Amino acid sequence: MRRFGAVVVGAGPAGMSAALYLARFGINTALVEQLAPGGLLLQTSAVENYPGFPKGIQGYELADFMSEQLSPYTNLSRIQGGLSEFKIAEGRKLLHIDDEWLEADAVIICSGVRYRKLGLPNEDFLLGRGISHCALCDGNFFKGQIVGVAGGGNSAVGESLHLAKIVSRLHLIHRRDAFRAAPFEVDRIKQTTNIVFELNTIITALHGEKQLEGISLKRLDTGKEEFLPLDGLFVFVGFDPVSGFLPEEISRDSQGFIVTDTEMRTNIPGIFAAGDIRAKLCRQIVTAVGEGATAANAVNIYLEHAHG
Ligand SMILES: Cc1cc2nc3c(=O)[nH]c(=O)nc-3n(C[C@H](O)[C@H](O)[C@H](O)COP(=O)(O)OP(=O)(O)OC[C@H]3O[C@@H](n4cnc5c(N)ncnc54)[C@H](O)[C@@H]3O)c2cc1C
Repeated sequence: MRRFGAVVVGAGPAGMSAALYLARFGINTALVEQLAPGGLLLQTSAVENYPGFPKGIQGYELADFMSEQLSPYTNLSRIQGGLSEFKIAEGRKLLHIDDEWLEADAVIICSGVRYRKLGLPNEDFLLGRGISHCALCDGNFFKGQIVGVAGGGNSAVGESLHLAKIVSRLHLIHRRDAFRAAPFEVDRIKQTTNIVFELNTIITALHGEKQLEGISLKRLDTGKEEFLPLDGLFVFVGFDPVSGFLPEEISRDSQGFIVTDTEMRTNIPGIFAAGDIRAKLCRQIVTAVGEGATAANAVNIYLEHAHG
């Protein structure tokens, strides 16, 4: 069993920031990631609100920069694998990663969120056959075509702006009559001539035997139903915490997000959380990065006290 001073779970912005600070404190650290480093940055097109990049930056480029910044630190082990089980036994923190157990004095959980599905029949089959959760990854498959975007928050609005430059027409389908995104971005979608607003509207069915061919819409104000032919549908209708592996004793809010104090400490000594997985209001790259640094600082203090 390998033993580390700190194990960081998830190499999104929060995890990579935490790992950078831990490595610079000289702590023997493992950064565990089941996919590629970057987390949701890899599904994000233009990032225009991360300080230091006045012209914006593509999500994957920012991910590459963050990852590259970790490479000089020899006290940082990067482990490719998924955490499947996390046990706390008599104060020991044990993490099962693929076919290996790790032991850590401190753990920072940065596992982020998972995007929600619409919950309609045929959705799993049509995922990757016209349905997508990633405009950056799949947008170019729909060049000059007609697509829908479901959702009304920051991701739906921001990604619609990106997609509208590629597709011929975009139907933005939202169940309410107003968006929950930043007013600046909402103004921009209103000025984008190939975006059609389908407000007070829900998707009731997905059609297509081999590939998505269209969707059924229901107007909530009139109750009217209609068929909308589409080549693609991008779904951004909320998210849930990625927390299936967490020990039960870690406090969470009613939606399953981890509750911490301002120093990113959970209710269990030596266990910390940072980024989108935390119970909070602002889920952004800049907050994830700040919380990663705060958590690493709290780990450093915790380890100093633990080791006298
Ligand atoms: C489409 C879209 C556009 C966005 N645009 C912006 C924007 O313009 N500006 C902005 O500030 N924010 C934006 N965001 C939000 C931003 O991407 C997130 O707030 C940020 O990525 C959160 O970072 P994180 O490190 O907490 O989580 P994530 O980025 O989700 O990273 C979590 C990581 O943990 C890994 N992981 C999870 N479970 C395990 C496990 N069991 N074992 C190992 N690894 C695991 C995942 O694979 C992932 O890599 C956008 C998000 C989306 C989806």
